[in-house]
Amino acid sequence: MAFESLSEKLQNVFKGLKGKGKLTEADVKLALKEVKMALLEADVNFKVVKNFIKSVEEKAIGQDVMSSLTPGQMVINIVNKEMVSLMGDEMTEISLKPSNEITVIMMCGLQGAGKTTTTAKLAGKFKQKGRKPLLVACDVYRPAAIKQLQVNGEKQGVSVFSMGDGHKPVNIAKAAIEHASKNDFNVVILDTAGRLHIDESMMEELMEIKQNVDVHQSILVVDAMTGQDAVNVSEMFNSKIGIDGVILTKLDGDTRGGAALSIRAVTGRPILYIGMGEKLSDLEQFYPDRMASRILG
Ligand code: GDP
Repeated sequence: MAFESLSEKLQNVFKGLKGKGKLTEADVKLALKEVKMALLEADVNFKVVKNFIKSVEEKAIGQDVMSSLTPGQMVINIVNKEMVSLMGDEMTEISLKPSNEITVIMMCGLQGAGKTTTTAKLAGKFKQKGRKPLLVACDVYRPAAIKQLQVNGEKQGVSVFSMGDGHKPVNIAKAAIEHASKNDFNVVILDTAGRLHIDESMMEELMEIKQNVDVHQSILVVDAMTGQDAVNVSEMFNSKIGIDGVILTKLDGDTRGGAALSIRAVTGRPILYIGMGEKLSDLEQFYPDRMASRILG
């Protein structure tokens, strides 16, 4: 990378100091200025950065510097630990009901976020786990979306349920669940319609599905490349319809992934998976420690 990473910057801030004694307030404040800049550059939400810096500061000031570490490494360790904790510490699995019951998952998100692709990617994961997923085309506004789901479903060897574009999404969802129960599918994944922007009718449509169908998990798909917008979108969806988890796509791009840090902090919901490319196999589980390393650089 052409730019100096945050880790390198911190090492440099502390270069002049000996690796002994305690971290002083002045040292810590100096280092945290760099951390703050780097986090803002990585598109972490401003409020999240403020709280984060405060909490690292409290933990770092007065810490004994272990003789095996430089002060820079000490601060990096504290920053790293706080980031991991902010993102929920451990990897979170999508909650599924037992195999003899039908788990309904509603996928939602703005147009272009990667929802339809991610839906097919997820189906592949469930298939690997020995489940029998059914993909459901609830996006009745974009005929291309139905076709796209069918093509991707076929690639994954997963069935796709569609009723064309002449029915309400809630009715398609109901019919799909009936179809699933008759044909032994145990994970029903609803690919709902996105819009270019947050929009009342989209939210109403999602609420209607939630109110009439036993949705076990509502999963939001957001584009990591959109940075702060991804965080705002997550906050809106969570407050309007309530989400259970987030999938962050396009992390194969050149974003640092600061959205990952903010989304968890702002919504309280875990990131479940990350999209790492356009191929249907490019979906990985989300590990907070790996993401912290990526943001730290
Ligand atoms: P939707 O409108 O939300 O259903 O979005 P699509 O699933 O149609 O995806 C929009 C575009 O993003 C497509 O070109 C996808 O191939 C691409 N895409 C989806 N996920 C990823 C990802 O993780 N990485 C990259 N590089 N592209 C992705």
